[in-house]
Amino acid sequence: VSKENEQMIQAYEQLSKFYHHLLVNTNEGQEALEYLTNRGFTREVIDHFQIGFALNKRDMGLNFLKRRGYSEEFLERSGLVIKSEHSNEYFDRFRERIIFPIFDNKGNTVAFSGRILTEGQPKYLNSPETIIFHKSKTLYNFHKARPNIRKKQSVVLFEGFADCISAFRAGIDNGIATMGTALTEDHVNIIKRNTNQVILCFDADAAGQTATMKAGELLQAAGCHVQVAMIPNGKDPDEYIKTNGPKNFVNEVIGSSLTFMAFKLKYYRLGKNLQNEGEKLNYIENVLNDISKLGNAVEQEMYLRQLAEEFSLSLDVLKQQVRKMIFQSK
Ligand code: ATP
Ligand code: MN
Ligand code: MN
Ligand code: MN
Repeated sequence: VSKENEQMIQAYEQLSKFYHHLLVNTNEGQEALEYLTNRGFTREVIDHFQIGFALNKRDMGLNFLKRRGYSEEFLERSGLVIKSEHSNEYFDRFRERIIFPIFDNKGNTVAFSGRILTEGQPKYLNSPETIIFHKSKTLYNFHKARPNIRKKQSVVLFEGFADCISAFRAGIDNGIATMGTALTEDHVNIIKRNTNQVILCFDADAAGQTATMKAGELLQAAGCHVQVAMIPNGKDPDEYIKTNGPKNFVNEVIGSSLTFMAFKLKYYRLGKNLQNEGEKLNYIENVLNDISKLGNAVEQEMYLRQLAEEFSLSLDVLKQQVRKMIFQSK
């Protein structure tokens, strides 16, 4: 580990403590604290995730860190400050935002994600890629969740930090989230070192369902057993927990997870009219293609039987078609 890495982590950790202090102990942090309280964040959760608040000041973080001996050039490299394009002035990247510290797998603070208090854009502002922060290898809450993931031999993957935090409050202590980006091969490798059972619990909107398809395929190709916990009524996990309570989330959503295959069957049907011959054939083709990729022969047989029954097709013909697909893909 280089000196610059260590110093950058230290700068993030010092500023993180300061932001946390501003949120919980100061008048200037009151509005942000109320925002979080209204969203159901307790003081315990705020401490557990070390959530903070960056005030609406141009250079508060900059001055705080300069007083502790960091140079402006170094702070620019850390992503904590930005150099103005017009003048030679530096200013804070994070202003008037709720600060979620991001930890690496060892528990070092390596980045921030800042949420706006109002409806403006961007909703979440992240630290840029630096020598200590690589978005494609970072999973929110992984450091704290890892022992629970190992113990339970299962991980729950969310789209957003708020979902991960609300689920934690509901008792899901093996939850993690990506940094608002798609799941990568690196993420999959990190997960696979700890468990091969993954429950995807993304937002119930179109974007969330598409992301579920992509993440599921990637995980399945890596040999993971994938399940999908679907949220009803277009909500995200955080909203669901707020409306329906933690018990229902654990029992009705996580507890009623579908296999990835069952999720795909639902997904392929969305907006399709299976009375239409073309759409029906297209649906069957999609399903057979997925069945051909299942590693488990019992599972293959089960879904083939379902398909045969639903569309009054011969099981033998379907099996033949699947064999052909397996042969062609080799
Ligand atoms: P909240 O509940 O606070 O509104 P969310 O997690 O429901 O947040 P979504 O809009 O569902 O927010 O987005 C999912 C995730 O995508 C966020 O948690 C965040 O990591 C990321 N994200 C959302 N908007 C942005 C953005 N404008 N820039 C970067 N990342 C973003
Ligand atoms: Mn979303
Ligand atoms: Mn969401
Ligand atoms: Mn949300």
